[in-house]
Amino acid sequence: MIVIRVGELADHLGVHRNTVRNWINGGKLPARQMAGKRYLITENDFARLCREFGIDRSSLKLKYLPGSPVMSREMTCQEKDVAEIGGRSARLLPDADWGDACVTCGSCAGACPISGVDGMDPRKAIRMAVLGREEDLIASQWPWKCTLCGKCEEVCPMNVEIVAFLRRVRGLRDRKKVPGSLQKGVLMCLEKGNNLGIPREDFIALLQEMGREMRDEGYPDFEVPIDRPGANLLVTLNSKEAFAEPAAMKSWWKIFSAAGESWTLPSQCWEGVNWGLYTGDDEAMKGIVGNLVANMVRLGCRTLLLPE
Ligand code: SF4
Ligand code: SF4
Repeated sequence: MIVIRVGELADHLGVHRNTVRNWINGGKLPARQMAGKRYLITENDFARLCREFGIDRSSLKLKYLPGSPVMSREMTCQEKDVAEIGGRSARLLPDADWGDACVTCGSCAGACPISGVDGMDPRKAIRMAVLGREEDLIASQWPWKCTLCGKCEEVCPMNVEIVAFLRRVRGLRDRKKVPGSLQKGVLMCLEKGNNLGIPREDFIALLQEMGREMRDEGYPDFEVPIDRPGANLLVTLNSKEAFAEPAAMKSWWKIFSAAGESWTLPSQCWEGVNWGLYTGDDEAMKGIVGNLVANMVRLGCRTLLLPE
């Protein structure tokens, strides 16, 4: 990877720096922004530009990212380690250069709220992928300890996409070995429309009971708007709320009443918590989102309210 400033690249190519910025913003020149207004670009992209502009690349003085193929010719110890351990992981790294962006500064580990829990360290997780220890990483608890909060990415000076990486590692775990009840909840949500598998009849009975309590609490005309076509707001729930704290729903309903909001609760597929996000299962996540979208379309709602 080559580290370069926009002005420096513009000077090399004999174009205005805004031209280079436009290439980057428009995707013509893939570049990853670093701290200090510098950009990372691959050697291939740089070579392509040099060819386009008829420039002798070998005549240019360039700065390379430590760990990139050029620099690593002088880093025989690292090369030896990688060769012995098994080479970089093709399944875990989005592209061949991705891991090189990490300069192992440790800022991510410093910002991570669960750093140190069971030895968790996002910087080490990235090193494991770069060194090809993908099976160890997939089997480890680290990706599952991660809360996906993104604090590590906020402080990373190299814009390494750590959250997407850790989700990808989760997605590669055998579904039978997904920790806790997450996978069960995902399957239940796809099959029954909520993570706990609460039957439709029980859910409707619960809503009607809560509606009666609302009327007793000073809302004499209140009826829970179940499957009301044309409502503005489609309200979803956390199934734990419906299961363990149903009275909490009334707080929302009172706010809607005070605001004069037009809202409805779907009688099926009302789960708003998508555990496919947490398990790294993109297909399941898509299926659960699809059920919510189908409710929006079926009832003609314009706004979706997610509880979390
Ligand atoms: S903050 Fe970024 S560059 Fe630093 S160790 Fe973490 S991933 Fe690597
Ligand atoms: S996203 Fe995960 S690794 Fe990053 S700071 Fe949050 S918990 Fe730590």
